[in-house]
Amino acid sequence: MKNLRIGQSKDIHKLIPGKSLKIGGIEFFNNYAVDSHSDGDVLLHAISEAIIGALGKGDLGMHFPMNAVNKNRNSEEILTTVLEMMNKENYEIINLDTLIVVDNIKIAPFSNKIKINLENILKNKNINIKATVSEGKHKDFIEAIATILLVKK
Ligand SMILES: [Zn+2]
Repeated sequence: MKNLRIGQSKDIHKLIPGKSLKIGGIEFFNNYAVDSHSDGDVLLHAISEAIIGALGKGDLGMHFPMNAVNKNRNSEEILTTVLEMMNKENYEIINLDTLIVVDNIKIAPFSNKIKINLENILKNKNINIKATVSEGKHKDFIEAIATILLVKK
């Protein structure tokens, strides 16, 4: 049997009044920003931590603590660093499934753009983007869930 590893993660950030925010590396221009130590890209954080989880290496905060180095950090850099960890351990991605939960931002018109950006970063086409709403339960928050399957090369 092949050496398979599954990983999952959920990230959540508070929405605050602003001009734009990033989701999956794509900038959304609207009336919101994200209250976060880094650039607050929930989707890239969830994907990065899912990979860390699959590798059995703890959580995102252990590798990227809330210090000066990570202040306003570009989350694509975080994901790239995690991918380097994955490559070092000789794993590759089989597939990635994601879910974005947000009430006040329409994801669907941009989900293909997010998918293409993730395909380029992860160098893998087996990526799925889903979006839903919280029905007003978490209307001041944006949340992302990621599940990833890795295989040893
Ligand atoms: Zn986050």
